[in-house]
Amino acid sequence: MPTRRLGDATLVPALGQGTWYMGERRGEAEAEIAALRLGLDLGMTLIDTAEMYAEGGAERIVGKAIAGRRAEVFLVSKVYPHNASRQGVVAAAERSLKRLGVERIDLYLLHWPGSHPLGETIAGFQALIAAGKIARWGVSNFDPAGLARVMAAARAAGSACMTDQVLYHPQARGIEFDLLPLCAEHRMAVMAYSPLGQAGALLRSPALGAVARRHGVSAAQVALAFALRHPHVIAIPKAVHPDHIRANAAAASLRLTPADLAEIDAAHPPPDRAEPLEML
Ligand code: NAP
Repeated sequence: MPTRRLGDATLVPALGQGTWYMGERRGEAEAEIAALRLGLDLGMTLIDTAEMYAEGGAERIVGKAIAGRRAEVFLVSKVYPHNASRQGVVAAAERSLKRLGVERIDLYLLHWPGSHPLGETIAGFQALIAAGKIARWGVSNFDPAGLARVMAAARAAGSACMTDQVLYHPQARGIEFDLLPLCAEHRMAVMAYSPLGQAGALLRSPALGAVARRHGVSAAQVALAFALRHPHVIAIPKAVHPDHIRANAAAASLRLTPADLAEIDAAHPPPDRAEPLEML
């Protein structure tokens, strides 16, 4: 499994596992736990979750999946913006730790920009780091101007933001114009969420299909290789079906050629100007 460096040079796998929509139906819990474990076996040891997903249900599934395997996992969770006051962020993290059944979250993200001052949220993150309850922090759904404010507030507090987790796939390429270069300049990995476009129209793209046929792989695998072609991008596809998990792990070794990328560019052009950050 290729790796990526976070802002503090910590190495993490380039391909992780998402958990949105897990923990919603009791009857699917067993399959979801097995899915995450299979993903761990295949090297996708970064797991992304959030207090929002199934209102804690996804964190409980993750907790069950990683029980007995904590040391293998790089665990990412997120705080709701409305919980991101100085005290609120600490209380939210403590609830997440309980549901996850762990003593520490490896990377804790502010899920999207909210109304609590960034300085307060960062002070909460710093208190959590000092208490050993999180190892590092970052943000999600921040556009370049917002991320610049985060980095300035972090510097002022003597702290550092480790990543920005944002929407990124061949039909949502806006970040290539400004956010990706900004993060690369600061040696900060970007986490690409919904890299498969939530298995919607993206996976029916004729261009991705043509590239996939040339390589004898699926359109989903091409989408993951597209995200991972960038040395600062981590992709976190969510999959429950075992065939999907195996296919996703295998995509880590798929290399797209210049001709493949030109075909994708022709169908899904890269941005030629700044675009508002898309988010789900
Ligand atoms: P996604 O990963 O783009 O797509 C998930 C869908 O793709 C599922 O229906 C899954 O089916 C299917 N799938 C997975 N692998 C496949 C394959 N090889 N071939 C065909 N279909 C495949 O969408 P996502 O869940 O929205 O995004 C991934 C993760 O990013 C989330 O789970 C979450 O952790 C994170 N996220 C973060 C934010 C944020 O605001 N920070 C927003 C959205 C997502 P099965 O499950 O049936 O296998």
